[in-house]
Amino acid sequence: NAHPDKIRSLLADIEQQFTLDGDVLISITSHFHKLFNLGLSEYGHPMAMIPTFVTGVPDGTETGTFLALDLGGTNLRVCQVELHGDKTFTLKQQKYRVSEALKTGEATTLFDYLADSVDAFLTSTTELKEDALDAGDIDVDSPTVPLGLTFSFPVEQTALDKGFLLTWTKGFAAKNAVNKDIVGLLQDAFDRKHLHVKCVALVNDTVGAALSRAYTAGGCVLGAIFGTGTNGAYLEQVANITKLGNGPAAAAGGVMMVDRESINPRFQAYEKFISGMYLGEVTRNILLALVDAAPQPILFNGKATERLNKHYGLDTEMLSFVESAWSGSDGGDTDDVAAAAVLVEDPEKLAPATVQRLKRVQEIVQENLGYAPGEVSLRDAALVRWAAALVVRRSARLSACAVATVALQMGYVSGLGKDARPAVAAAAGGKPYAIGIDGSLYQHYPGFEERMREALRILLGPEVEKRVEIGLAKDGSGVGAALGALQATKNK
Ligand code: ADP
Repeated sequence: NAHPDKIRSLLADIEQQFTLDGDVLISITSHFHKLFNLGLSEYGHPMAMIPTFVTGVPDGTETGTFLALDLGGTNLRVCQVELHGDKTFTLKQQKYRVSEALKTGEATTLFDYLADSVDAFLTSTTELKEDALDAGDIDVDSPTVPLGLTFSFPVEQTALDKGFLLTWTKGFAAKNAVNKDIVGLLQDAFDRKHLHVKCVALVNDTVGAALSRAYTAGGCVLGAIFGTGTNGAYLEQVANITKLGNGPAAAAGGVMMVDRESINPRFQAYEKFISGMYLGEVTRNILLALVDAAPQPILFNGKATERLNKHYGLDTEMLSFVESAWSGSDGGDTDDVAAAAVLVEDPEKLAPATVQRLKRVQEIVQENLGYAPGEVSLRDAALVRWAAALVVRRSARLSACAVATVALQMGYVSGLGKDARPAVAAAAGGKPYAIGIDGSLYQHYPGFEERMREALRILLGPEVEKRVEIGLAKDGSGVGAALGALQATKNK
């Protein structure tokens, strides 16, 4: 610790790079708002506002039994969803693995596998199979079981049951699928196997989140995913989507819009600042900068373990362990990162409670980064916790910008920052701003929501922030797809 001033200035420099103050949040949000409106008026904008053809949200009174198929997360899932009409549902599900060979082989082989999985699922839950064969109580007019497909890849949708794959992502590369209608590919596979299942709706995971939250909470206008990636869908007035012209969708009052589905790496900076896939990696880079600091290392005595040296070697989950260890069971203060404490050369000067917290962090860091006992000092522990907090706080604050943009767009608030007024006259005035979120980052990261709310208070003002109701979109993909299927059967 021969250069406390140097250390202090390096840490301050990093901290500054990761800090977004209120003015910056406001300017990002108003920029997003402009981009929203460009994206609604014309195709081909970086903010790709994609109409979903889902024209409303449930209120919890819906009933029926539906199948759902979910492709695009870690596993392929087949679900049977029974909606009880009282905001509750029963869900049976089975997960199936999608092998590398299937992901990269012929599309027909992949879709045959999807159909086989549905068949296997139906065989294991005979109740539905019988319905599928003799109509049962699902739909007397058609001896088929309606199925909703959650397909979380970039798709250009032209109807609730039609969508063309723009490109594969997430390691999928099945041949002869790009530019084809995904529902058609799936239905052909069902038909080849003589399954009495009809794919009636195609939804994105964000739309699924909004629909399932709307069903269980009695309303929801924004669905968002904070998981491996980040994306959202909100309810827009069709009249505002001027690029749709006077087409059939214009007849509906509202339609869900998916904010962004671009896969162009250069245009995904926002997602990279936020998503679970990247936060660990960003933190790893901060830690390495400290390990490699000249003339003297600031962290781990200059030793980087294999895990720390490895690209994407640090998972976002590990950051959540570090922060949980720091805040303890009481939740604690999330943001007194106290770079100052980091610099205390003499741990004896730290309050005993702080030492306790740092000891917990020390253990987590040692275990998860592969250090031997004694190689991680309390100061190292404090630095890792500080880096994690910086990275995740920035993620949460940027997430708040998107949430605030939708609030502005939907009329929950009439301005931002000191101009933020609850919009009393507008359609949304006085109503709660209900949001359904799915994804591990939101669900498991301690303090993520509170950090997001802190930024929302700046952006929307405390009064409107209090109206923001955020809840977990439970089983969003399965229940959402089922609700999409329900809408399709109602449209008929
Ligand atoms: P997906 O988005 O793929 O459907 P998840 O919502 O589970 O699935 O998100 C997975 C991402 O969440 C991964 O990037 C992982 O690093 C991150 N993650 C997993 N567990 C946690 C956790 N406890 N806290 C924060 N992030 C986590």
